[in-house]
Amino acid sequence: MRNLRRSVSTLAIIVLFGGLLLFNLNREGRDDLGWGDDYWEQFDDFEDDVADVLPDDITTAQGIRVHVDIADDIDQLLTHARSDGVELNGYGYRTNEQQVELRKRHCGTTDFDIFEKSPSECSPPTARPGSSRHERGRAIDFRYAGRTIKTRSSEAFVWLAENAGDYGLKNLPSEPWHWSVDGR
Ligand SMILES: [Zn+2]
Repeated sequence: MRNLRRSVSTLAIIVLFGGLLLFNLNREGRDDLGWGDDYWEQFDDFEDDVADVLPDDITTAQGIRVHVDIADDIDQLLTHARSDGVELNGYGYRTNEQQVELRKRHCGTTDFDIFEKSPSECSPPTARPGSSRHERGRAIDFRYAGRTIKTRSSEAFVWLAENAGDYGLKNLPSEPWHWSVDGR
């Protein structure tokens, strides 16, 4: 009986530590949103594939495509960040076709998935085509040191949280990288 108890205790300890080990291995390479590096590499590739012909009301501010109305503010924000040692870049304007492509990847491939499904039912949440601030050049996904800003502990996020409001940008709380004119 004593031997049995000892075996059960030993087994319980092995299972406990094994579980902890697997849990930590699983967390490796993941950000605080729980998405793996694979997701982000795909996303980076996708965002590199930008439109060749831009609408008249879209211009570039230090390489980021944004609406002409906010271009000066974004230009000043980027210059200010750089003077504080925070070198930012990012992606602003996105075409409707790109938004549709993102919805396919994040929400599913039926017409319902792409055009109707609630953004919150997509992973990650993604605005319906026609309603993304990116499609108006009024949102930016910021990158820092060549990577999308994935965590609130990022030096770049901390800088933006303190300063972006001065240049008319608000953060969408669920997405540390996404800043827009109204936080959506
Ligand atoms: Zn965004």
